[in-house]
Amino acid sequence: MNPGSRESDGTFDIEVPVAIVGGGACGLVAALTLADAGITPLVLERDALPTGSTGLSSGMIPACGTHLQRAEGVEDTVEMLVHDIQAKAKGQADPAVVAAVAKASGPTVEWLVDDHHVELTLVGGFLYPGFSAPRMHAPPSRQGADLMAGSLRAAEAAEIDIMVNAKVTELFAGEDGRVAGLRLERPDGGAEEIGCQAVVLACNGYGGNTDMLAEHIPDMASAEYFGHPGNQGDAVNWGRALGARTRHMGAYQGHGSVATPHGILITWALMMNGGIQINTSGHRFSSEHRGYSEQAVDVLAQPGGLSWLIFDDRILQLGRDFAEFNLAEAAGAIRHGADVDSLASAIDVPAPALALTLAETHAFADGRNRDPFGRDFTTQPPLSQPLHAIKVTGALFHTQGGLEIDAGARVLGSDGSPLPNLYAGGGAACGISGSQVWGYLSGNGLLTAVNLGRIAGQSAARQINQGIET
Ligand SMILES: Cc1cc2nc3c(=O)[nH]c(=O)nc-3n(C[C@H](O)[C@H](O)[C@H](O)COP(=O)(O)OP(=O)(O)OC[C@H]3O[C@@H](n4cnc5c(N)ncnc54)[C@H](O)[C@@H]3O)c2cc1C
Repeated sequence: MNPGSRESDGTFDIEVPVAIVGGGACGLVAALTLADAGITPLVLERDALPTGSTGLSSGMIPACGTHLQRAEGVEDTVEMLVHDIQAKAKGQADPAVVAAVAKASGPTVEWLVDDHHVELTLVGGFLYPGFSAPRMHAPPSRQGADLMAGSLRAAEAAEIDIMVNAKVTELFAGEDGRVAGLRLERPDGGAEEIGCQAVVLACNGYGGNTDMLAEHIPDMASAEYFGHPGNQGDAVNWGRALGARTRHMGAYQGHGSVATPHGILITWALMMNGGIQINTSGHRFSSEHRGYSEQAVDVLAQPGGLSWLIFDDRILQLGRDFAEFNLAEAAGAIRHGADVDSLASAIDVPAPALALTLAETHAFADGRNRDPFGRDFTTQPPLSQPLHAIKVTGALFHTQGGLEIDAGARVLGSDGSPLPNLYAGGGAACGISGSQVWGYLSGNGLLTAVNLGRIAGQSAARQINQGIET
């Protein structure tokens, strides 16, 4: 018997073929996949209403080679996506998992749209950092809440059982690591035990667990966590108790653009369309085009951990395509200035410094000078008056380390061979973002949640349907 798990006495309140822990994107996609294969899964969700980090997200799912891309004349291939992921992760991501996820990405988005009527559109008009093609697929609102709503509607149509208020607390497993079932707790203190032939861990990472953050990501332990608080690292802890390997536990996704004090994510589209980020002294401090994840660290290193996004009317209009941006505007997060001096006064930044910063970016844009931080300003028009600004801070969005898996989303044991019937995806598994904050390519979170959910569902279905030992 493994520490932290126990052998079952063989009696369970109910028996299901596959238990899925967590009802976010990963869990719901795994469930839909199993239902399509004729297997009735049970999704166990600790909250009264499944939301997860997926529901808090912008719902942007990268995928390559989709009919939505083709309809817009976008050429994108598995090879291009693999290249972009590994370029950002400096080659540190597991090549087999990257290849599997990239290969699954197009078909999975098409399956969600065509077979399960989850409404997704291609986000065009600009490239996210590190992308060689427009490949974000998102609900028209660009809100994860709508991705969750669409996925839950699909689950209902597929008659998938989602047990809510069901916090899984323990896996039952024998010496061989085979999971026989799990225990869940109800809000009233009651407990139930469920037997199963396979388990999919879709309960995300440890962003909500301050002790685990202090151990693995001490630099962000005191930063604001913007993800779902119920993600407490359970998958990692159960997996470890079963002898599973973990990897890249210090990796995470940050974001350098959370409106403060409003607590609203401001889309990075502002920066990719020509906006800049300055500190309270009026100076830029990094290239805004490397990635929004590592920008969190740079923003938090500025005085007060604060910075201002600066943009103009053209970008203001683009921002309004994003529901969250409109929320921020309605909440009064946007300051305005008819010219540099009045904006400087509105945001309490020294006017000469802001004027100099803007003049520098104009020189970068027309090729008179080169940005010392390495951003290419020649691809967008320089900022023009009137100007606008939003005060932001950096935050931790979700952890990227987790259970090591193979290309079939099977959790690997200490010797590198798969555990008998345990699968993981999304934030529960080690991601494809390398070992550090800089390795996160835009959209890696939902890329691995959705596609590893799909792959885990397929692997578990194969195990059940063929009665195979995985
Ligand atoms: C503000 C924000 C914006 C983001 N925007 C994007 C984006 O646009 N694109 C992108 O790719 N990524 C984005 N991300 C990251 C993305 O949201 C996550 O990577 C993704 O949602 C993870 O999906 P998941 O299914 O693994 O986890 P989740 O969606 O968090 O689901 C996990 C579920 O498991 C449940 N759970 C946890 N423990 C237990 C337990 N013991 N028992 C039962 N249930 C349990 C939780 O309640 C939760 O519902 C964003 C993140 C944040 C915070």
